Amino acid sequence: MISIKNSRELTAMREACIISARALQLAGKMVEPGVTTREIDREIRKYIESTGATPSFLNYGGFPASACISVNNEVIHGIPGKRVIKAGDIVSVDVGAFFEGYHGDNAATFGAGDISPEAQALMDATRESLYEGIKMAVPGNRIGDIGAAIQRYVEVRGYSVVRQFVGHGVGTNLHEDPSVPNFGTPGRGPRLLPGMTLAIEPMINAGGYEVSILKDEWTTVTKDGSLSAHFEHTVAITQDGPVILTRP
Ligand code: MG
Repeated sequence: MISIKNSRELTAMREACIISARALQLAGKMVEPGVTTREIDREIRKYIESTGATPSFLNYGGFPASACISVNNEVIHGIPGKRVIKAGDIVSVDVGAFFEGYHGDNAATFGAGDISPEAQALMDATRESLYEGIKMAVPGNRIGDIGAAIQRYVEVRGYSVVRQFVGHGVGTNLHEDPSVPNFGTPGRGPRLLPGMTLAIEPMINAGGYEVSILKDEWTTVTKDGSLSAHFEHTVAITQDGPVILTRP
């Protein structure tokens, strides 16, 4: 079942989304050569808890940290640890906060120091594809319109869309109906209605779309070792068009 929020509920959810967005912003500022992924995670947790919120991902399904931090060929669900970020790395941070009954969820990929033009182009295309998807998040459209727009944007640039993981509804639960694939057919899938809140999150690979999950049972990597980028916003569908709730 897809939950519909009224304007009071959306206003409450916006608070959780602002905390999530600020946590992501903080992470972005910390991505520098020499920092460990654990240090970034620790600051994220400290910030989220300082607001009275709780990190949505901590212990979710057994996940051991407050943020997923995925480097280079890691797509999503990287576990923060002692890995030291190096110049030229691209670092995807995915973070959510739970505040007064609602979750926010967002992600972005940041470059550490000088990154290659190829890595920059992948990040730019992934970020832009998210906005292409968000444009389609309007009442009357269908879920497939979002995915199709993302897929079209990245595939003409030679990139591929991860199939095994998709976006999702978000609200009182971190993951709710519907699934929001980053690929699809226009005009297919559930119809979008005002009050739906979706986490739209393209995961885009420079090479093929296949992924593998490492032995830690979380870290998801590209099968061919190519770079991957990830951008995500929590978006409300409203009569006046899409509203990005995870804006700081
Ligand atoms: Mg998400």
